[in-house]
Amino acid sequence: MLSTGPRGTKDILPDVSGYWQYVENEARNICSLYGYREIRTPVFEHTELFLRGIGETTDIVEKEMYTFKDRGERSITLRPENTAAVVRAYLEHKLYADTPPAKLFYIGPMFRYDRPQAGRYRQFHQFGIEAIGSKGPAIDAEIILLATQFLKKLGLDDLVLQINSVGCPECRPKYRVVLQDFLRDKLTNFCKDCQSRFDRNPMRILDCKNEKCGALSQGAPQMSDCLCEECDTHFNHLKELLTAANIDFTINPRLVRGLDYYTKTAFEIQYAPLGAQSAVCGGGRYDGLISECGGQPTPAIGFAIGMERVLLALEKQQLLPSIGHHMNVFVMPIGTQAQALAFKLLCNIRQAGHTADMDFMERSLKAQMKLANKYSAKFAVIIGDDEVATGKVLLKDMKTGEQQHIMVEELLNKLDAEVEE
Ligand code: AMP
Repeated sequence: MLSTGPRGTKDILPDVSGYWQYVENEARNICSLYGYREIRTPVFEHTELFLRGIGETTDIVEKEMYTFKDRGERSITLRPENTAAVVRAYLEHKLYADTPPAKLFYIGPMFRYDRPQAGRYRQFHQFGIEAIGSKGPAIDAEIILLATQFLKKLGLDDLVLQINSVGCPECRPKYRVVLQDFLRDKLTNFCKDCQSRFDRNPMRILDCKNEKCGALSQGAPQMSDCLCEECDTHFNHLKELLTAANIDFTINPRLVRGLDYYTKTAFEIQYAPLGAQSAVCGGGRYDGLISECGGQPTPAIGFAIGMERVLLALEKQQLLPSIGHHMNVFVMPIGTQAQALAFKLLCNIRQAGHTADMDFMERSLKAQMKLANKYSAKFAVIIGDDEVATGKVLLKDMKTGEQQHIMVEELLNKLDAEVEE
């Protein structure tokens, strides 16, 4: 057991972490382009926050949370998503006192006791944004645009954006009744989960992944037919804004977020080549959540993008940049006497801002040359007994093979000039 990590977790090894940094940098860049600033909240919170902030009838809360008692007997949960925590921080630190909307983003690990498979893990990472304080559809369009622009900038085409409106506490109860009327006679044929959703959360039946349930709910009445005037106008404006911004979308009436505090816009971005786990981004409006968490009624919207899925997609499409392990300078001490001078030079070279490394394993000159080539070093600095005695080192241009003896004092100037070139 000690030789493997827990099921559903992954080590991000040095050969791969560069890809993560690349995607994270793109996320940070687009957020700064759109005026979203980073927020970092703890990876664990009081369990109560998620019971309220996600909803007690959701799969996440019912089946997937890592919940435990800490040594002070408090119930703690590793965050399964980050919207509730961001809302908690927004209220705790009175971010509402700043000019609204609060535009926030985060990147970090989330934890869900899911059934691990390709694209589905127990520890996974999300890049998410939350815009708190604006009720107009323009902010909905902005964040949808941000998500699609981010994915496109990485090179992912053929993305499918699905949108829907899930209504609000005014129109949804009416829809709920109509939907329950439609489902009631067939209920015993649905899966156990759907049967238990019927009273608590019937809209979730519409997005059940079980094929049989999908077939049974075909022809169900749609939320869009029951939207109140405000929700209908909001949805129409959003569609207009997306069209004006040249964003393709399809309307998926089965896309739901079936809790009272999720309102109006719901959206998802699918990337079909990922197969079963094709959703790369999920988001929506949650106008009721901030008051549910104890704040003044405040409209808000956000999304979360699964980083692992984005990286899988990039790998599949061969869109990952080539990221090597480069060092500009490789310092090669030959013999123990040369070690001290080599180490001192290495420190100076690094201090001057050149990426540099040296041999720490007492390798032969030949083996050190091989290593310098592996790092694609531009220069090798070779130091043997003679060099220690004369105060000159041998500088080798690894590309041309030219070498020259140079005074230690001049080495940095020379490197500055050559590397710049
Ligand atoms: P959700 O909060 O469930 O809407 O998830 C938002 C996004 O996070 C999804 O579209 C996925 O890309 C990603 N995601 C959710 N759950 C997992 C998981 N268990 N493993 C990997 N990625 C996930």
